[in-house]
Amino acid sequence: MTNRTFTMIKPDATEKGSTGAILKMINDAGFRIAAIKMTHLSKEKAGAFYEVHKERPFYNELVDFMSRSPITAAILEKENAVEDFRKLIGATNPANAEAGTIRKLYAASVGENAVHGSDSDENAKIEGDFFFSMLEQF
Ligand code: ATP
Ligand code: MG
Repeated sequence: MTNRTFTMIKPDATEKGSTGAILKMINDAGFRIAAIKMTHLSKEKAGAFYEVHKERPFYNELVDFMSRSPITAAILEKENAVEDFRKLIGATNPANAEAGTIRKLYAASVGENAVHGSDSDENAKIEGDFFFSMLEQF
């Protein structure tokens, strides 16, 4: 499934009521939703999801943030999904994100940056399977 990526609409965007607007941008950019759910991550689950960042100085802040409010998780399908989605969301720090990207429009800071996008086909599969069983991926 190299034509799929995984995303989360993060707690800051949920709190601001931006979920619908972000999903519309994703839809308008040509991604098909192959799975979707809204859920509230525990600290344990948020910590496990971002385990690769465990040694980074911002890890605890990231785990607190990601478990603060509900998130919307989704698997997205499109040709060249991983790369095209990273382009659509923009740079990690919204200050460096290009105009018209989701992070430029909806993110406030490098820590609270509205959306997650997988960084490789391999991680897209791992991350999608973290949230969705085989019966929930269409
Ligand atoms: P994501 O994996 O969420 O799509 P990314 O791939 O653009 O983001 P990563 O380097 O994987 O960026 O960082 C993961 C997340 O950790 C970031 O999206 C952000 O929420 C947080 N983060 C990254 N760098 C910092 C930082 N310097 N200070 C605070 N939080 C940070
Ligand atoms: Mg990342």
